[in-house]
Amino acid sequence: MTWTSANEALDILAELVSAANRAGDLSCLNADLLGRMAAVYGLQRISLFQVHEKDGAGVSATCRVDWTLPGRPALVAGTHPPLTVDGGDPLLAEWAARRRRGEMVCGLTRDLTGYAGAFFQAYGIVNFLTVPVMVHGRWWGHFCVDSADEGRAWSAGEQRAFRCMADVLSGVVARSGTEQVVSEASRQAMLDSSIDGVVIADEAGAIIEFNRAAEVMFGYSRAGVLGRSMTETIVPAHYAGRHKEGFARHLATGENRILQRLIEVEARRSDASVFPVELTVSEIKADGRRMFAAHLRDISDRLAARRELERLAYFDGATGLPNRAGLMRLSARRAGEPAGAVVVQLRDLGVLAASLGEDWAKPMVLEMTGLLGALLPPDATLARTGESEFAIVLWQPGGAVDLAARLQRRLGTALVMPSRRRFYVRAGIGVVERGGPITDILRDADMASRGSPDGAACVFEEAIRASHQRRLELETALRDAVQQRRRELTLHYQPVVAITTGAVAGFEALARWQPPGRDSVPPGVFVPLAEASGLADSLGDWVIEAAMADCAAWRREREGAGLAPQHVSINLSATQLSAPDLAERIGEGLARHALDARLARFELTESAILSQPDLAIRTLHSLRALGCSTAIDDFGTGYSSFSYLQRLPMDVLKIDRSFVQDLARNERTRDIVHVMVELAHGLGMTVVGEGVETCETLQILGQLGCDYGQGFLLGRPMARGAAAALPERISPC
Ligand code: C2E
Ligand code: CA
Ligand code: CA
Repeated sequence: MTWTSANEALDILAELVSAANRAGDLSCLNADLLGRMAAVYGLQRISLFQVHEKDGAGVSATCRVDWTLPGRPALVAGTHPPLTVDGGDPLLAEWAARRRRGEMVCGLTRDLTGYAGAFFQAYGIVNFLTVPVMVHGRWWGHFCVDSADEGRAWSAGEQRAFRCMADVLSGVVARSGTEQVVSEASRQAMLDSSIDGVVIADEAGAIIEFNRAAEVMFGYSRAGVLGRSMTETIVPAHYAGRHKEGFARHLATGENRILQRLIEVEARRSDASVFPVELTVSEIKADGRRMFAAHLRDISDRLAARRELERLAYFDGATGLPNRAGLMRLSARRAGEPAGAVVVQLRDLGVLAASLGEDWAKPMVLEMTGLLGALLPPDATLARTGESEFAIVLWQPGGAVDLAARLQRRLGTALVMPSRRRFYVRAGIGVVERGGPITDILRDADMASRGSPDGAACVFEEAIRASHQRRLELETALRDAVQQRRRELTLHYQPVVAITTGAVAGFEALARWQPPGRDSVPPGVFVPLAEASGLADSLGDWVIEAAMADCAAWRREREGAGLAPQHVSINLSATQLSAPDLAERIGEGLARHALDARLARFELTESAILSQPDLAIRTLHSLRALGCSTAIDDFGTGYSSFSYLQRLPMDVLKIDRSFVQDLARNERTRDIVHVMVELAHGLGMTVVGEGVETCETLQILGQLGCDYGQGFLLGRPMARGAAAALPERISPC
């Protein structure tokens, strides 16, 4: 603080003392003085709160004086909700305890939580200091200052100055007693310093007082409204009749419904616009007259904030439809239970968003919303109950199956996006055609939708619940097997053979699961199950570790005789690929087993790569940097495109068996496979044909230039021992 501002600070203090002596009440904190105080100390707000302790119920606070720098969010004066001291917000309880001891409380809003944090943040308070005002040794209230500057420290000198001001105020409060004797001049000053609009009417309903805040709120001048009818001035026309009736009834009978209560009503401005206010009315009896004082606060902002919160909590931001919570609330508010439901489960939305971008996924969701809205029968509600899930709840019996059928037909034709792109939606449709509690209906429809094939509706029946149950049991058994590394999980090896020479070039490791006391479960079932239940990572880790251990043992045992693999191919799933440390862990595994990295090959499908393309490409590069090779699996079944294939760091292309097995029958397929082989070679990749079952297929693959073959003809997946016993060359034809 400079010399001049130190002088100014002293001046302010002196002025406060003399104003306190003159006025004898809190009007000594006048706007001019507070403005100067703020300038000297760099404050954005100065306020004074009075506390009321309610035995047992906690502490509530009333803002008695409030000054805010122009342009900053003004503090809302009036009573704040009771802040429970014990058992409630622990921070406020601690503050109350400290203030009772006369201690200052200061800090930064960003360190606060709970009610205080939210309240401070709402009013733009950043860095605050509060000094308790003690009256006769008891905590009467607190004097608060705050600054918008987070880095500002409250110096000891400043703290002394604020403490001194609080002491002056405590003297004022002590002298004025609990019932303040208010002089006429300060009465007007107080009325005008109130942030609430205050309108006082006499027994005839004529306005006899209209404070400054009311002038701003209603757009009238005080002089212009004095003597006018309160009803006709500030009460909206549609409410005027009821207002007059209530007023007359109160005068005649004393019956009153609003006196001393905090209510929300509408008020009217001078331009006839209507806005929400919070209102308390109290009756004043003085000099034999009855007067009615209305304290009004414009709560448009608060209501808007409340509506915004509601929207966030109960509606989906992208579509504006109710979300799951919104649907539940809607149902709770209705008299009856739902009579049926249709749940639509969009498939691949995540993959599409990742591959084609959010710009594409969002319009698709909107298109879907429009499509479902157009099919919506009367008395039904459409909601977006999940990222990829919509629900239609029917409130009248019948019609769910029919609706699902119409939806199924509609999804059979392409959706045309605003960008004119055509698109077929892959979706599961689950139907429940019975009444019941909404949670049950939605759960069953959801279950049915997950079991339904693409685009086909599936009506819920008990068998679905049973199959769901079986799936859950299977999932539990798989979890046990994976987490406890049980012997029921093993790897089989299928040879990959060079087509021209018949030399066994390597093996693909394929997982096998034989749960105790059950039939073995094919990987086509348990791998997707692991992916859906969050087990893919643990299962994948097990596969990598087991394949490496096998490989090391295999090389050791061979001792010159028998077949050692040139490479072992390990399948990776999408979630494994997205672990940023995958390559690192693989590197450590190779070192631990003393394996040459060139032995390990990793196979990935296109959809696994597309679910997180950037991360996948990075991981693939890291794997190649280790010395491992990479292969793209099931090529031709996904969203195959050679343009992006070019961007992928891949060594091997595996043509899906659906193409390979069609070669002998279909000339067009031969052309396609020929192009695939040529392009792959052009990109420096070698090509493996999968699912070779006949000599004819093998021969055609050879003619098309395919390098390797894999399939039952050349060898089924087999235990490691059997694989090691294979001859070096396999020429079945
Ligand atoms: P995939 O990676 O395409 O594996 C090749 C599948 O084709 C294997 O099925 C194999 O037994 C089968 N197959 C090989 N030759 C022929 C043939 O000539 N004709 C026919 N009809 N089928 C043949 P499998 O072992 O049932 O595995 C199915 C899928 O499960 C695999 O497809 C792969 O996607 C997944 N899978 C298997 N093991 C693992 C694993 O350890 N990790 C991951 N992530 N997925 C695995
Ligand atoms: Ca594979
Ligand atoms: Ca494959």
